[in-house]
Amino acid sequence: LFISIEGPEGAGKTTIINLLASLLGDEGFQVVVTREPGGIEIAEQIRGVILNKENTAMDARTEALLYAAARRQHLVEKVRPSLVDGKIILCDRFIDSSLAYQGYARGLGIDEVLSINQFAIEDMMPSLTLYFDLDPEIGLDRISKNSGREVNRLDLENLEFHQRVREGYLLLTERFPERIVKIDSSKEIEQVLQEAREKIGQLITK
Ligand code: C5P
Ligand code: MG
Repeated sequence: LFISIEGPEGAGKTTIINLLASLLGDEGFQVVVTREPGGIEIAEQIRGVILNKENTAMDARTEALLYAAARRQHLVEKVRPSLVDGKIILCDRFIDSSLAYQGYARGLGIDEVLSINQFAIEDMMPSLTLYFDLDPEIGLDRISKNSGREVNRLDLENLEFHQRVREGYLLLTERFPERIVKIDSSKEIEQVLQEAREKIGQLITK
């Protein structure tokens, strides 16, 4: 079962993914936690190029292509084999990040970015996408209090950019209602976790 986790900065994706993994692990499921861009060596190298603070000359289409390339390699090397093994894959970001950030917020067009990603992923779409919705003002505030987090090129973007990212995600939840489930991430972590677990529960039977 392939599940992607989406949302803006500071929505708690990484935290929730780790909690979900231990919850599902305790219940006897085999779970793989991974992230995008990255998750395997080649894709982590591409991540380094994309997010490097020095790379201010990065063109938006170059950025979109690099994300798609990292996504392809990660799918082939990690996601597909784990699916074949019957595991639950929890992936921190996937195609919807590209659609919301590069397609919508950077203005490349959701359909344009979708088409290069379709080339990259072929038919390997998640069965479920949990979108953690949060006002970017709250998200960025949470992040500024998390001193352990690495600073990256996207941290230089302004609040309006992150508001467009959220608008993009909201458009996607309307466009793909059968795949994307929206969860209110301003709630207490326990409640967010429980909602996420319930949604996954609708897809798995032990
Ligand atoms: O999820 P994580 O915070 O590790 O993502 C790293 C950075 O990459 C974030 O700042 C995020 O905004 C950015 N990103 C992006 N476009 C994507 C995926 C991630 O700008 N398609
Ligand atoms: Mg994270």
